[in-house]
Amino acid sequence: MRIGMGYDSHRFAPGRRLILGGVEIPHESGLLGHSDADALAHAVIDALLGAAGLGDIGRVFPDTDPRWKDADSISMLASVVEMVREAGYEVSNIDCVVVAESPKIAPHVEDMKRAFGRAGIPHEAVGIKGKSNELMGFIGRGEGVAAMAVCLLTAITDAPNGRPKEG
Ligand code: MG
Repeated sequence: MRIGMGYDSHRFAPGRRLILGGVEIPHESGLLGHSDADALAHAVIDALLGAAGLGDIGRVFPDTDPRWKDADSISMLASVVEMVREAGYEVSNIDCVVVAESPKIAPHVEDMKRAFGRAGIPHEAVGIKGKSNELMGFIGRGEGVAAMAVCLLTAITDAPNGRPKEG
């Protein structure tokens, strides 16, 4: 078994859609980034890559690459889940925290879990919690949101390369 952790933050910007956990959430501004700026999906991607020893999101999806401009982060997550599988692991579970003063996250958790399901992480393997930052710091001032994720990977013996990745 291997564990991983991931963190991401993005700032709010007018004229952008707000996408978190693959769900478009009605809000007066969205998050700024090269891709769709889905901080939650990005934190999960980094947790998975870290656990599998496959680097980080900046290495796999460089923000200098026009292919990832406005990219759908759930599709990026789906390819990372596939990379993890090819490395010999399956995702046992992920657990996440989204820290945002607004919007409220709880009403969107089920839709987010369904989006992660489309990326190959089963519904029952996903935990998502929303937290405010009690009006403190950049999150408290509504300048942006942050997300944290941990994951557990388990070695599979029927991996495409025929064996779990060494150490
Ligand atoms: Mg990001």
